[in-house]
Amino acid sequence: MSKTFDYFRKIPLTVWIFIGIIFGVLAGLIFGQPLVPVTSAIGDLFLRLLKMVIVPLIFTSITSGVLGIGTSRNLGRLGLKTIAYYVTSSLIAILTGLILVNLIQPGIGSNIVLESTVDASNLSSGSLSDLLYRIIPVNPLSSMVNGDILPIIFFCIILGIFISRIQEHYRQILSDFFHAGFEVMMKITRFVILFAPLGVFGLVAKITATTGIEIFKSLGLYFITVLAGLLFHYSVSLPLLVILTAGESPWRHLKNMSAALLTAFTTSSSSATLPLTMECAENNAGISNKISSFVLPLGATVNMDGTALYECVAAMFIAQVYGIDLSFGAQFTVVITALLASIGAAGIPMAGLVMMTIVLKAVGLPLEGIGLILAVDRILDMVRTSTNVWSDSCGTLIIAKSEGELNNVIRNSS
Ligand code: ASP
Repeated sequence: MSKTFDYFRKIPLTVWIFIGIIFGVLAGLIFGQPLVPVTSAIGDLFLRLLKMVIVPLIFTSITSGVLGIGTSRNLGRLGLKTIAYYVTSSLIAILTGLILVNLIQPGIGSNIVLESTVDASNLSSGSLSDLLYRIIPVNPLSSMVNGDILPIIFFCIILGIFISRIQEHYRQILSDFFHAGFEVMMKITRFVILFAPLGVFGLVAKITATTGIEIFKSLGLYFITVLAGLLFHYSVSLPLLVILTAGESPWRHLKNMSAALLTAFTTSSSSATLPLTMECAENNAGISNKISSFVLPLGATVNMDGTALYECVAAMFIAQVYGIDLSFGAQFTVVITALLASIGAAGIPMAGLVMMTIVLKAVGLPLEGIGLILAVDRILDMVRTSTNVWSDSCGTLIIAKSEGELNNVIRNSS
């Protein structure tokens, strides 16, 4: 009996999650709608557990991360490297999308009829200045209560910087407090992760049962364009960045991060996946806590390559369908706003769709265009979220390597 138990315990989490996905697809196909109440309850319970961890995890990890970085010079260097990576990788993703959408031209000649219309007045249309305003919390506690990640991160960075500047005695107390808080949140995370295969099963069964094949007919080419762009970025651009800038094997890194990547795929939420991303980065990929606790929470909110690529392709597609020829200048605006929209998008399902308003408004495209792409968004969201998390993981590896913060013993033993 205990031998069987030992045998099952040795199976890696990724394999369990994979089994969860396969059983989820099968259950969704075989039992369909009648099973939805049960499977969606299982999936929702798992998501609630993950969400329970997010705010306290970010609060403790960023603050202790900034404290761990030490001097403000170190923080400045790390911050600059992090931002440089985020912007570079997102721009590469957007340009990949722009090239593909111009080559394939999925919206030209397609006789798409508006299947679902969106009441544009209901969309919370973010503007660029809103984005900047949202970063500074008027009340940090209310940001925490509402789960507004960007202002929480801002507050934690400031908190970490100023804790390191107070009297030694007080600094020690607070630093111990945040490190201890982070330790306990990671312990809770490890516990929650045990339920991942089951949660993933529930989420996938629900999606399979509720998504029909028909929707792909009219939007097929658009779907393929976004998918091709995402897959190219996933399997060519990001691995090349890892090889060229860190000299590390992207394949091994992919294996180390696979549990987080599969969870991102099924939950469609970078934020909900964050606990797993941090766990895999530290315990499988050998990235030091100092780097991962700063770069990953920030990346889960700010660095979204998949979303950026999607924003660009979707905006161009909508322009093509409406027969609007976007000039070079307008395409440049699409690139810049797609980047900003991806930075501003929250790490939650379909956030990218909402942020489309920024891009469409910037180039004067009708907001109703969002109705065109609505139908296939669920599936694309899964792939772009996994791409987002993969990019965060690659960035963390590259930065850790450049800072000498990679533990090869852990890395090679996992
Ligand atoms: N769901 C994505 C994420 O959490 C954001 C998006 O909708 O593009 O990363």
